[in-house]
This record gives sequence, C-alpha cells and structure tokens, in this order.
Amino acid sequence: MSVKQPLQVTAIPAFADNYLWLIHDGQHAAVVDPGDAAPIEAALASLNLKLDAILLTHHHADHAGGVPALLAQRQIPVYGPARERIAGITVPLSGGDRVDLPALDLTLAVLDVPGHTAGHIAYVAHDQHWLFCGDTLFAGGCGRLFEGTPEQMSASLAQLAALPDDTKVYCAHEYTVSNMRFAVAAEPGNPDVTARLEHEQQRRARGEATVPSTIGVEKRTNPFLRCREPGVLASLHAEGRLSGNDPVAAFAALREWKNVYR
Ligand SMILES: [Zn+2]
Repeated sequence: MSVKQPLQVTAIPAFADNYLWLIHDGQHAAVVDPGDAAPIEAALASLNLKLDAILLTHHHADHAGGVPALLAQRQIPVYGPARERIAGITVPLSGGDRVDLPALDLTLAVLDVPGHTAGHIAYVAHDQHWLFCGDTLFAGGCGRLFEGTPEQMSASLAQLAALPDDTKVYCAHEYTVSNMRFAVAAEPGNPDVTARLEHEQQRRARGEATVPSTIGVEKRTNPFLRCREPGVLASLHAEGRLSGNDPVAAFAALREWKNVYR
C-alpha cells in the first residue's frame, strides 16, 4: 500500500460533464456520487487506494449508477438520502446526521437540501471546509427543480450560502461557463460577474476544471444566491418575469428564465 498523505479531494471526470469526487489520504478513499464505476476503479487502481465508503447526494443515475458495480467487488457502507429510493444504501441519512469515516479521519455533517430532487442531501466537512452538494448549488448556478419547489430550493441554497466563505464547493457538473453567461444577463452591472465569466472561459480554454468554487465566490457572482440584489431584481423586472421584490418569487423567475436562456 502507498504512503499516507494529507486528506485531499480528486476530481474524476465522467460522462460528458460530471465530476465524481474521490476523497483520499493516499491509502484509504471514499467516493461521492459515483455515477459510473469504471473511472472510479481506474483511479483507485492507479492511486493504489482502498475504497472504504460510498456517499450519495440524490437518486439520479449519473450520481448513483455506479454503486452496484462498485459493491460487486467489495462490501462497504453506502451512505445516502433516507427519503430517496436508491438500491444499495446501507446507511440512510437525513439533515442533522453525521458520517464518521475513521479510516480517513473524516467527519461529515449532513444537510437536507431538497429542490433538485425531493430528498437531496449535502455533506459538509466542517474541519476541512469542504461542501459536497451534488446538483443543488453549481459554480455560477443551481440545479433544476425536478421534484422540489422554489421555496425549498431557495431555503436549501440559503443553508449552503451560510457556510464559511472559504468553504470549497464540490458540485457535480462542469456547467460554469454557461452558468456565468446567464449570470451576466441576470446582473449585467456586477463587475465581479463579468470578470468571473472571462476567468472561467480562460480556465476552460486551458483545459482546466472550474470547480471546486468557494461559497464566497458564489455569494459574489451566482445570481441564484443574489435574488435580493437590486441588479438581479431590475433584470427580472425588465424581462417582464417578476413584479415586486419577493426573494422566493425572484428565485422562481430566475430559474424559469435560466431554463429557456440560450
Ligand atoms: Zn441530479
């Protein structure tokens, strides 16, 4: 077995634009949202890691689809949302629960973040300032509301925005450039938004990942966390998508606009 290293998070690209997250210390590993087993097995083999646990945020196949194949090779705990039906879960979790992974010396707090799906959960490593939020908060955007309401999603995003600014946001997709193009339309007068679009475009042009982001960057530039900002409200009014300034109505209008924005 290889040498023990500081605990770290490695992105495993999968499908067209997913990131599967491998948390490891050079010897032991846990994986968040293994939609596909093959790239995980390849990473475990090349880094010489033993997989100790699987963590799931929600039931979509691009997040949980690799679980049966990973379990065919080993018997390990599978943590996941109590309110969603996912084959293979051995430890169902709800907000307020805690996950202890002693082999990795890692503790994760569980948050209920419904909206994208009805039972979606997120994992927070408070000591490391890491957030694994699946398809709830994205770099520059947020997940679509497939099962939840705008009220639920706004409350879920507010919970995540309350984490410390230096918290790293390990979201599950590389959507940042298209999200930031929309962010410029939603808040054209915000220079941080314009600068971030340019910065993220340059990173993609160099072939780099734009995630993880941080909560601080998201609070400054992600329109879905800025539904009370005058600039965002003004754009929604100008588009004829909102009357008044109610933040949940603004969030709903923003999400609807993003759904049709090209
Ligand atoms: Zn999803």
